[in-house]
Amino acid sequence: MSASNFPARHIGPDSGDLDQILRVIGVDSLDDLARAAVPSAILDPADDNGLGALPAAIDEHEALAELRALADRNTVDRTMIGLGYYDTLTPPVLLRNIIENPAWYTAYTPYQPEISQGRLEALLNFQTMVSDLTGMEIANSSMLDEATAAAEAMTLLRRAGKSTSPRLIVDRDVFPQTLAVIETRAEPLGIEVLVHDVTTGLPEGEFFGVILQTPGASGRIADVQSVIDGAHERGALVAVGADLLAMTLLTPPGEQGADACFGTTQRFGVPLGFGGPHAGYLAVHSKHARQIPGRLVGVSVDADGNLAYRLALQTREQHIRREKATSNICTAQVLLAVLAAMYASYHGPEGLKAIALRVHARASEFAAALGDAVVHADFFDTVLVQVPGRADDVLAAAKAAGYNLWRVDDDHISVAFDETSTPADVAAVLAAFDAKPVNAAPSDIENRTSEFLTHPAFHAYRTETAMLRYLRKLADKDIALDRSMIPLGSCTMKLNATAEMESITWPEFSRLHPFAPAADTEGIRALIAQLEEWLVAITGYDNVSLQPNAGSQGEYAGLLAIRNYHLSRGDAHRTVCLIPSSAHGTNAASAVMAGLKVVVVASRESGDVDTADLKEKIAKHADELAAIMITYPSTHGVYEHEVREICGAVHEAGGQVYVDGANMNALVGLARPGKFGGDVSHLNLHKTFCIPHGGGGPGVGPIGVRSHLAPFLPGHPLEPSLGNGPTISAAPFGSASILPITWAYIRMMGADGLRRATLTAIASANYIAARLGESFPVLYTGENGRVAHECILDVRGISKETGVSIDDVAKRLADYGFHAPTMSFPVAGTLMVEPTESESLGEIDEFCEAMIAIRAEIDRVASGEWPVDDNPLRGAPHTAECLVAEWDHPYSREVAVYPQGLPSGGARAKVWPSVRRIDGVYGDRNLVCSCPPIEAFAE
Ligand SMILES: *Cc1c(COP(=O)(O)O)cnc(C)c1O
Repeated sequence: MSASNFPARHIGPDSGDLDQILRVIGVDSLDDLARAAVPSAILDPADDNGLGALPAAIDEHEALAELRALADRNTVDRTMIGLGYYDTLTPPVLLRNIIENPAWYTAYTPYQPEISQGRLEALLNFQTMVSDLTGMEIANSSMLDEATAAAEAMTLLRRAGKSTSPRLIVDRDVFPQTLAVIETRAEPLGIEVLVHDVTTGLPEGEFFGVILQTPGASGRIADVQSVIDGAHERGALVAVGADLLAMTLLTPPGEQGADACFGTTQRFGVPLGFGGPHAGYLAVHSKHARQIPGRLVGVSVDADGNLAYRLALQTREQHIRREKATSNICTAQVLLAVLAAMYASYHGPEGLKAIALRVHARASEFAAALGDAVVHADFFDTVLVQVPGRADDVLAAAKAAGYNLWRVDDDHISVAFDETSTPADVAAVLAAFDAKPVNAAPSDIENRTSEFLTHPAFHAYRTETAMLRYLRKLADKDIALDRSMIPLGSCTMKLNATAEMESITWPEFSRLHPFAPAADTEGIRALIAQLEEWLVAITGYDNVSLQPNAGSQGEYAGLLAIRNYHLSRGDAHRTVCLIPSSAHGTNAASAVMAGLKVVVVASRESGDVDTADLKEKIAKHADELAAIMITYPSTHGVYEHEVREICGAVHEAGGQVYVDGANMNALVGLARPGKFGGDVSHLNLHKTFCIPHGGGGPGVGPIGVRSHLAPFLPGHPLEPSLGNGPTISAAPFGSASILPITWAYIRMMGADGLRRATLTAIASANYIAARLGESFPVLYTGENGRVAHECILDVRGISKETGVSIDDVAKRLADYGFHAPTMSFPVAGTLMVEPTESESLGEIDEFCEAMIAIRAEIDRVASGEWPVDDNPLRGAPHTAECLVAEWDHPYSREVAVYPQGLPSGGARAKVWPSVRRIDGVYGDRNLVCSCPPIEAFAE
């Protein structure tokens, strides 16, 4: 018995419910289920599953006390390091009502736009904010961080431009981590990076693109215009890293002809968090609109002709597939993008400009006192100071006064001011330079003449009451986990417990700069080390890196490790990556980005890897074989029995095995990829390990590797302790500030709790398969007739016979108060259902009853009682407004919105979608990706 009460809070079914579930699926106990479902070749005994290395489970208050002790080992000094990370004042109304509000943080990617209008509107505000401030026409929402945004800008310039040159010019003054990620991404793609001081003119020879940054790492405001003009004359395209706060004062690159802009929105209210998560941004000129990677929110109309939002150009998501792969972005940084957008709404354009002027005034006061020692006269917030031979002394004096500055080299220190800087800070830092404040007016750097953020979204919510109600109004339009189960297969929408979440906004975790001295960050580093150890125990690997900030980035980091391993052994010819046809789209995209050639392996009828085809492909590519990438359990939701043989065959041919561990919720405590044949895996902490999805991000995608791949794990130019592997993310430990969530989950569950969670998730998935199998055929089961942690319901036959589409079923579920399962992945025309261990039997039963009722509705269409083009399924979802309009449908208003009858006391809360079925095609033909003018809302 576990000493902690937490597993019983986290796991939905109690022991009575579990008995009921086990009875229905026909097994006697969870252990019997383990033996029945998981192949014996990989199943670990309960007492020898690696989890013995985890500490015994503790209760919520005890875990919080341990986290408090870790937090207390961090020192939150005033940070003036800059380099893309600035302290910021998060308005409390936004902190509590977005970051600390489950209505926002437990939502998923808005795949069902009709029940996601709130966060889609917030993201449209984000896109508008970025477009306006950079002067570009189209911005996405959002990028994983500034450095990966710069790397995506690089490949975008190459795709969009006409030059055939493989050369990219990167200005010397971009942030070191930005350069490092660009170099990582460039190498496998054959792009040659030339670092050059572009202010002295562009280099000789051909190049396809130029990347620069303003203000630069040194604080210098670059002459962007002349670089853009010079590059365009030479047939190259230009991407500019731009600080959004500075853009309130400076002419934005979009007005100077830039092809793309990239950067971070961190300083718009998003806490430092030891490096992340923060929303990066990427914006492009409209002529490159169809080249922009990642999620793009667009405006369209619903079935009643009303304005509605949805993800635009969804087909671009397919560009992440196989040979068309351009980018592997899947999870973004939605929660942080929402926060940054609301920060802009709360301050408005004048407020943002006032903040920028204040920051610049502090920097100017500081620079004036140092006179000739200041290196660049044109600065915004960051001042580079010459201190010949004295850098260490100045740094130490500042530190003694409680300030962290940035030591550039022996002779230079840079000091970055931010929203929180006061005149007292200026005086205190000057003292470290043996200088005193002088009276001086700020230098005049303002040359922006264009207006920005003129839309009402940036003017209507300036009081706390107005903002509070706006956030509530938006959140109420969406289904998040605080309203209903979200049975999205492969997404693992489980409980994000409050005790797991609580510590992430403590200043001792949230106000740490990623490049703060190691002595200041002892607590978070200890937490990271413990978490790595625990993930080693859970996965059976030897080493773990927490740097990748999404599953896709983990895939990329893992495949690069494989590639670099082969290169280190002189096996440069090993470039073929085998990927089964059913793989997640990011798999192939990551392989292409890692410079590998994708060869598809067929699936059997059963969904398993076709081992005959695999053997053929291995034989055919034996000399070039780099790796196989398999998902386990498979994306079809089954445990393949031959996984050991598959791994063995690849190893024998000299290849490495990548096991996609995004579905680790079916394995924790039962089997370890590091022990059954994997060389490397990524995990999705935002799936299996309780980091909330935030409406489509943030995420963490750590990788585990066997020891031979450890030398190739991610490194970082400013964190020597990580070794010198490729830099994957901007921050050394990725999205470090959300790691306490996973830490707390493992700490409170312990070995027994984790194993029980896995088995409960499997039991519940098999229960759903048993209950719904008669209404909707279950597409795949393993050799033993069992599914793993999710099941695929086949709607194709039903659609063919009745004309009712998969969309009709998904949208109709909203009328019943549920979020739809994953649609058409990995097989078109199917629904993939994943209940997770957190959903109670009551909730699962209600979902099953809704699905069974929908099946009965389909039968009424099939029997001709309702026409195919006018029935409650095709009409779904139904809004309150549509009820009061003229009603001439062959089904009643009651059937439309209360299909299971009027609720009696205690019944499921009614969800009222805010729009009808959205016309996606209309929106793609008429692409609008920023806030529509207010007249668009008029009747
Ligand atoms: C979710 C998922 C991924 C991608 O993870 P992201 O964090 O969204 O990048 C990869 N593989 C599988 C099987 C997944 O389910």
